[in-house]
Amino acid sequence: MALLKELLEQAPAMTQLRRDIHAHPELCFEEVRTADLVASKLESWGIAVHRGLGRTGVVGSIQGRDGGASGRSIGLRADMDALPMQEANSFAHASRHAGKMHACGHDGHVAMLLAAAQHLAAHRHDFEGTVHLIFQPAEEGGGGAREMIADGLFERFPMQAVFAMHNWPGMRAGSMAVGPGPVMASSNEFKIVVRGKGGHAAMPHMVADPMPVAAQLILALQTIVSRNLKPIDAGVVSVTMVHGGEATNVVPSSVELQGTVRSFTLPVLDLIEERMRELAQGLCAAHGMGCDFEFVRNYPPTINTPAEAEFARGVMLELLGQDQVLVQEPSMGAEDFAYMLQHRPGAYCFIANGDGDHRALGHGGGPCTLHNASYDFNDALIPVGASFWVRLAQRWLQPGNAEVI
Ligand SMILES: [Zn+2]
Ligand SMILES: [Zn+2]
Repeated sequence: MALLKELLEQAPAMTQLRRDIHAHPELCFEEVRTADLVASKLESWGIAVHRGLGRTGVVGSIQGRDGGASGRSIGLRADMDALPMQEANSFAHASRHAGKMHACGHDGHVAMLLAAAQHLAAHRHDFEGTVHLIFQPAEEGGGGAREMIADGLFERFPMQAVFAMHNWPGMRAGSMAVGPGPVMASSNEFKIVVRGKGGHAAMPHMVADPMPVAAQLILALQTIVSRNLKPIDAGVVSVTMVHGGEATNVVPSSVELQGTVRSFTLPVLDLIEERMRELAQGLCAAHGMGCDFEFVRNYPPTINTPAEAEFARGVMLELLGQDQVLVQEPSMGAEDFAYMLQHRPGAYCFIANGDGDHRALGHGGGPCTLHNASYDFNDALIPVGASFWVRLAQRWLQPGNAEVI
């Protein structure tokens, strides 16, 4: 491994900072303390700071030896928010706020980007152009990336490409991965209400029972992926909530189904939504029921542009060596960095969080997976991720980089 010596030396300080953020988790668009901390660190290293993008977002800009005159530019993004869940860990840096927890490692993402920022600011002679450090709020469902873009992120801070990195539990510690094309799915929600006529459960001929129709519909929805979707395309339809009925002897007047739909492409998503609507309305009509159908499209798919993914992979190879650069399967999870990739080329990269052995004494009994109450970010990643950010920026902003100009 060719990690940067200075980043290894500053790792203890960055670990302390990461643990401080972990102890003070903040939810979507409430990242005030975290944003204050980020801004004050950046300012202390002489970095120009801009606040208020996407409400609590922060952008730091570092210009290289040319004062940014070359026009080369790159954006590096870290998300800052925590999750509304109770932490099971009891070690010293466990959450001090009941019901809030950094269970997705965004505390570590902030620490890695800050460590890189400190190094880049101290070595401006190593590159030409501008590095924009994007500290984004509200990744966990709030669409903070979309809000920062709406506040002029790409107009105010012109950048030729944008990159992000997420820690990934279960991947061998010390390794990284990136690939071209879709890496995360689009995330969508639906709500279907089957409307019948309630009444006495002993007199089914006097009611219009929505229960068997809802049951048929749950099964019918499973035929979309298995029977309508091209087998080599990927899609998920999960019914995750069924609400209806209050008593054993009362037929309810309606049953509500809710769930999630995932896909990597717009045509697949269009097909799934269309078939869901047809099945819901058709089945309800066949049984004399009313039907409410709502389909909400949330995060779009996260799609890496091939040239930028290959560029990032080259930096990983240089830094970690062949054995530590892995191929990452796309995930059906979702990520709002997708919005940034709709505006600029770039890549979403993965950094291994290991299998949980790193956790301090006092961690909860559960697995160290994302969104688990026993999760903790692996601090050994900080110099790895920060070295990657630094090298990526330096290589991108090298005069003569054919990828860029
Ligand atoms: Zn998450
Ligand atoms: Zn996350």
